[in-house]
Amino acid sequence: MERRMFDLPDYDNHEAVVVARDAKRGLKAIIAIHDTRLGPAHGGARYWTYDAPQDAIVDALRLSRGMTYKNALAGLPFGGGKSVIMAERGQPKTANLLEAFGDAVEKLGGRYNLAEDVGISPNDVTTIARRTAHVCGLPTGGDDAAADPGPYTARGVFLAMKAGLEEISGSSDLGGKTVVVQGLGGVGSPLCDMLVAEGARLVLSDLNEERAARVADRTGSRVVSADQIYDVDADVYAPCALGATLNAQTIGRLKVKLVCGGANNQLATADDGVALQRRGIVYLPDFVVNAGGVTHTTSQLTRWTHEKVLAKVGEIPGRLKKVLERATREEIDPQRAAEKVALEIIEGKAAA
Ligand code: NAD
Repeated sequence: MERRMFDLPDYDNHEAVVVARDAKRGLKAIIAIHDTRLGPAHGGARYWTYDAPQDAIVDALRLSRGMTYKNALAGLPFGGGKSVIMAERGQPKTANLLEAFGDAVEKLGGRYNLAEDVGISPNDVTTIARRTAHVCGLPTGGDDAAADPGPYTARGVFLAMKAGLEEISGSSDLGGKTVVVQGLGGVGSPLCDMLVAEGARLVLSDLNEERAARVADRTGSRVVSADQIYDVDADVYAPCALGATLNAQTIGRLKVKLVCGGANNQLATADDGVALQRRGIVYLPDFVVNAGGVTHTTSQLTRWTHEKVLAKVGEIPGRLKKVLERATREEIDPQRAAEKVALEIIEGKAAA
């Protein structure tokens, strides 16, 4: 397994990849630490069922590298890391299992600091925190809603989308624009409310049909199936579910001008960024767009006030503008340009 891992393109010189195993408490997890030059690694913990262990490793590696770029561009004093807890099909997420995971994180002595991600709620983070101090995103005074990074991420996506529209059409007005939103969870659902409040029309999709119906009802939108989403004629596609939805099978089908969403690792491969560009679709790099949540959750460490967090989220459009200018100047795709800007920050050659 090790030799194969070193050969994976996503391995990309990770500083450490830890396999955490506690058979008694049912834990199998990967903790990936990509880069700590700017500070201890920070990134969410995910709870997910994978078809194969290799998929979990790739997920952790890709997500943790993305966190390095995201944290650097957001001006946060953290490196990049991420962890995935590999759930067996139907395995309950017990307190014992979460505590075992906390023990594994504690053993790293602060090199990795976690918050919630897909499948891990603020309450779960509280359970993990019984065994490790290296967490953030804890509910304050038991208030789960205040700890939820989703609305902050959604706010960043919303502002980024307006900036993207301005870039492609000269106007940031969402009135009358059609936005396809895929995934209506912690990020997608509040994003829909913000878009509708500005007069956008929505086409929605979620694997959870009840959730899709609820958001559609609330926003007066129409729902399509998980697969139809790629064929909808719209202005914007907002991926807010899982990663790799921009791939060789989907890109050719898209009938949108802009891609801007909250999901991590939207491009299946680096070539997919180029493929979108060739089709004339502007892709706003996910790790620039979706930094609102991490800016909020790490405020327990940075001690940034609510106002400062909102101001930082408000910097996302300006950062995107710089990235898109760089892409145009160097004739590269936006993802590549964003990675270059992030690396310059990490290497101390540029300020965030
Ligand atoms: P969530 O688990 O609350 O919601 C995800 C939703 O997507 C669920 O309702 C699920 O049913 C749906 N879904 C999954 N696969 C789908 C598919 N193929 N088609 C349609 N719907 C599908 O997760 P979230 O917190 O909203 O996060 C969404 C994405 O944004 C993830 O990729 C996450 O890593 C990323 N992200 C989240 C935050 C945050 O603040 N929560 C921050 C940065 C990035």
